[in-house]
Amino acid sequence: MNKAPERSTELYNRALAVSPGGVHSPVRAFGQSGGNPLFIQSAQGSTLTDVDGNTYTDFCMAFGPLILGHNDPAVAAAAHAALDDGWSYGTAEPWSLELAELIRARIPWAEKIRFVNSGTEAVMSALRLARAATERNRVLKFAGCYHGHTDAMLIEAGSGLAGVAGSAGVTPGVADDTLVAPLDDFDQLHHAFDLYGHELAAAIIEPMPANHGLLPQSDEFLAELRLLSHRHGTRLIFDEVISGFRAGFGGCAERFAIEPDIVTWGKVIGGGFPVGAYAGSSDLMQHIAPEGDVYQAGTLSANPVAMRAGLATLRRLRDGSVYEHLERLGRLLEAGIAGITGINITRVDSAFWLWPGSDEEPPRSPSDIDAAVAERFPEFHSHLLDAGIYLPPSPWETCFLAASHQPDDITKLLTAVGSFKF
Ligand SMILES: *Cc1c(COP(=O)(O)O)cnc(C)c1O
Repeated sequence: MNKAPERSTELYNRALAVSPGGVHSPVRAFGQSGGNPLFIQSAQGSTLTDVDGNTYTDFCMAFGPLILGHNDPAVAAAAHAALDDGWSYGTAEPWSLELAELIRARIPWAEKIRFVNSGTEAVMSALRLARAATERNRVLKFAGCYHGHTDAMLIEAGSGLAGVAGSAGVTPGVADDTLVAPLDDFDQLHHAFDLYGHELAAAIIEPMPANHGLLPQSDEFLAELRLLSHRHGTRLIFDEVISGFRAGFGGCAERFAIEPDIVTWGKVIGGGFPVGAYAGSSDLMQHIAPEGDVYQAGTLSANPVAMRAGLATLRRLRDGSVYEHLERLGRLLEAGIAGITGINITRVDSAFWLWPGSDEEPPRSPSDIDAAVAERFPEFHSHLLDAGIYLPPSPWETCFLAASHQPDDITKLLTAVGSFKF
């Protein structure tokens, strides 16, 4: 049994005085799970240890980047080696080249790649590129997909397809350029392209939406989006910041055999260090400076520590054995949850989402989700914390399996879930 996180509470109270909400990214504040955020001192394998000395089996895995688990020896060795060589040159270096070549060898349509520092930056740059290449302004997104915090993507569905600002500080002008359609709705998809297709620079989607629960899309819906984008001269952006190198090495593009015009990556690609990337055909990517006139830059872009950690991560993933291990764990988890009344699981590869109810069809769109899903989450989350399990502190965040997890970790999770009174 863990002891009360007194030192975490003390640090949190200090943090409240010096940072908004005491945190540096909102979901970390435990606002949706109740209680105070845990301050983590260290992590190893599948385990987090907080500043009070409590340990937790981690199924958040830093919200996705750590597909190999915490402090993976190969990634750690790569990062240490990078530090020994000095960690920032502000020049060209070999590591980003190797990483780009490794990716392109497996994902040949991603002919040219540009590294940035976050998923948000990757999306922001992909949108600019699509706008430049098409000389159009508007973009289409889907309600329930998250694409980072660039203004153009902090837009929620208004009436019809019109977008409205989803955050204070986003201007009506920006909102006006972003249209929002529902996921998994063919009629609305056709409607959007019929009305606005000629104005759309880009359509952007998470092909495996994993930021509002996990909302797997049908092959047909993604194929239709590909078809309509082609037909209207709209660039299709697959935001694979979560699914890239997780839904198999080639992500959803490979899984669904659909080539987007631009792909955005993040999370796994940096092995837990700050990296994002966007990629597409040479023809399209030639618009990017210094080759073309779309400006995009970064002081710390392709930072050698992050590049070498990313390389070590993707090298481990290349032969597929990690995915096989993750799939075995995923099946074990799925079978176990099926035997517990009161809870459903939606799983795509090593991403999973637990939601209350029994034997229901997995939702494909936020409008299919019962509003009550979030109600008992705080109780559920703290029950699991007491049992030494760390889930992301929000009912809408996806959980992740990592290579470091073992069947025992799954058993521990199942026992903890099974002892909750739904
Ligand atoms: C996490 C995420 C982003 C934003 O990435 P950051 O590195 O947090 O800026 C964008 N798109 C998707 C699909 C994500 O999951």
